[in-house]
Amino acid sequence: MKKTLTKLDTILIAAVLLAAAALAWYVKAAGNNEGIQVQITLDGEVYGTYSLAEDREIEIRQASGHNRLLIRSGEIWMEEADCPDQYCIRQGKIHVEKQTIVCLPHKLVATVIPAAGNGNDSDVPDVIAQ
Ligand SMILES: [Zn+2]
Repeated sequence: MKKTLTKLDTILIAAVLLAAAALAWYVKAAGNNEGIQVQITLDGEVYGTYSLAEDREIEIRQASGHNRLLIRSGEIWMEEADCPDQYCIRQGKIHVEKQTIVCLPHKLVATVIPAAGNGNDSDVPDVIAQ
């Protein structure tokens, strides 16, 4: 008996492949926190750079106000802020490169960046044996 792929089969296969690719990307992004850091800038000046691999609390007090960021389990978020809009808190947790948390009233920006030295070495193998 000859087996043929219907149009629906093709769409289903494509959808499954897409979902698998998305999942693989997500797992890689979520699980690969070792070399990920967050850089915090105040009014364009670097305030500090912290590894997301280490849990910590970052307390920032400025004349314009107060912010408290938390790093837990490889993610960072704005836990507390006394800015009027509270928008930075609503931005939630970030952990993927180039994601940002912005507190506009306090001119505070937290950006997820690769660890120093990991930025442009393209010869690092994608697959690491576990
Ligand atoms: Zn804010």
